[in-house]
Amino acid sequence: MTLRKRRVLLGGGAAVVLLLVGVFTLFEISRARCFSLVGEAICHVDTNEPLVALTFDDGPTPDGVALAEAALRPRNGHATFFAIGGAIPGHEDQIRRLLADGHEVGNHSFSHVRMAMHSSAFYEDEIMRTDALLRGAGVPAPSLFRPPYGKKLIGLPLALARHHYRMIMWDVEDPLDAETPQAYADSVVREARPGSIILMHIMYSGDAIARAALPLVVRGLAARGLRIVTVGELLRRRG
Ligand SMILES: [Zn+2]
Repeated sequence: MTLRKRRVLLGGGAAVVLLLVGVFTLFEISRARCFSLVGEAICHVDTNEPLVALTFDDGPTPDGVALAEAALRPRNGHATFFAIGGAIPGHEDQIRRLLADGHEVGNHSFSHVRMAMHSSAFYEDEIMRTDALLRGAGVPAPSLFRPPYGKKLIGLPLALARHHYRMIMWDVEDPLDAETPQAYADSVVREARPGSIILMHIMYSGDAIARAALPLVVRGLAARGLRIVTVGELLRRRG
């Protein structure tokens, strides 16, 4: 092999390595819970008060809404529900019921796809179609957005900023590998701290363990002296 050929090969190899490092870095940034290249990814709220926000993604479904309300009512807890635009038609009454009971409903995109590597028109459409559906169901001024799968890069945060939305991530994730409701609840309660934003999935019948764990989570948080409030309330109490 001539020296020149070896140099070309080495240069090509370095370029491939750099490209891979770049792709990997972007991938990690796209799913980082507490960091965004643009704007703010809110995963936790600094507060001196013993408050946590409980958030439920997807749906709304009548079952999920009923379960959440039954679990939260005895403790006077209020939660934030991130609704998928495509799932709202026909379920507006669920949203009205949540609002009437003091809960909060946010925007979880229209089609629930990963919000990275799309055109800015795509993000606009995803945010604003759902925004219109939320307003139609009685949400006065939707302002919180939860990216599906927690995915975002640059286009989504820019589009959210244009429409005065805040990007809400989480710092306590539902333990999808928990084998029992008690193990699920123990994990969530152990990880929560004042200002935490907790993510749970209870809207579908496949979420059986999380559904059964919810009352245990509510009880466990109360036992630690942590009160459950909406994300909006937590943000208002920012220290
Ligand atoms: Zn989701």
